[in-house]
Amino acid sequence: MMGSREWGVGNRDWGLGTGDWGRRARSVPVAIKLDILSSTLLPTPHSPLPFFLIVLLLLAFSFIVPLAAGAQESTQAGNAEAAVQKPAFALCPENARPGDPVTVGYSDAFGTQGAVPKGLQAVLVDSKGKRLVKAAFFSMPREEGEQELKAAVLAIPSTAVPGNAVIRIESQDGIIRDLPFVIDKRDFFSETIPLDQGNTDLRTKPDPQKTTESEQLWIILSRTGTEIYSAGPFTLPVTSTRRTSMYGDRRVYEYTGGTKDTTIHAGIDFGVPKGTEVRACARGKVVLARPRIVTGNSVVLEHLPGVYSLYYHMDKIAVSEGSVVEAGTLLGLSGSTGLATGPHLHWEIRVSGEDADPDTFLPRPVLDKKEILNKMSVR
Ligand SMILES: [Zn+2]
Repeated sequence: MMGSREWGVGNRDWGLGTGDWGRRARSVPVAIKLDILSSTLLPTPHSPLPFFLIVLLLLAFSFIVPLAAGAQESTQAGNAEAAVQKPAFALCPENARPGDPVTVGYSDAFGTQGAVPKGLQAVLVDSKGKRLVKAAFFSMPREEGEQELKAAVLAIPSTAVPGNAVIRIESQDGIIRDLPFVIDKRDFFSETIPLDQGNTDLRTKPDPQKTTESEQLWIILSRTGTEIYSAGPFTLPVTSTRRTSMYGDRRVYEYTGGTKDTTIHAGIDFGVPKGTEVRACARGKVVLARPRIVTGNSVVLEHLPGVYSLYYHMDKIAVSEGSVVEAGTLLGLSGSTGLATGPHLHWEIRVSGEDADPDTFLPRPVLDKKEILNKMSVR
């Protein structure tokens, strides 16, 4: 539970910078004075006068210190007031690899009485100024008396170039703040997959139905809802640890006609036999459960605003669109429907439309209110 008291703690944390300075400013002169005392004014049996001076100084201190403390308190109050007039931000984490999710926290409720800028979003901008991905902010659930807190979840694209970047907070009125962010280096595997005539046709033959399906899926995946079904962490959808393709694999498809095409694998393939139980990786709403041409029998779950998990190539689907499932609910049985060279489960996570590495959602929650509050600072 995040009570208003914990918000108070967060509040004080944001002002810590100024509080620390205030404390240091006071402690320096005291330390200097004590130094002077110890080096030059310590009483010796032969010098009674310095001892008399010490008594005088101590008397003087008893007046000066409370005065200084009073002055400092009012300065601190002034600083705190100035600090809360500005929006506060949190980046969790402040550096990440391609494929990793990043949660951005935002609050300006103190200064503007909750007037949140319209069209508030976070945008990852690389070192060359290229806008890579963007995510809309959504409201975090809050307890009675808690301050308004917003969050946005981004995924670093697997193609992002490592280096210094920024996460730009912007509204429809323009840039609010550029928060420094570092994209770490990450290597991905490469693989070559020869396709038979059926799979070659699936990828290369124009088909209006295929286009319609891909447009429908894109509409679902780029939607930022309001409901938080699960903040994570997620669990694996199958018990098997046999993986035949990894997230971010650079794939070369060899078509029957001799031509090639390069793609990037957006999820993890588990090489499981046909009929293996596939289970929900977290609580979520079934936003798609139907056969698709390329991905076969497919299920898509919505877990957080903009965060979805996808399950492809299943033999049978066990859930229906619109229902809310718990973590571990049976979604269907694995198979090799759609574009598949053998039975397997393709498991994928999408964040604001961008594919993310599913493994990074297993060890920790994607939305951790405590972590957001701990990292919140006025910048
Ligand atoms: Zn796959």
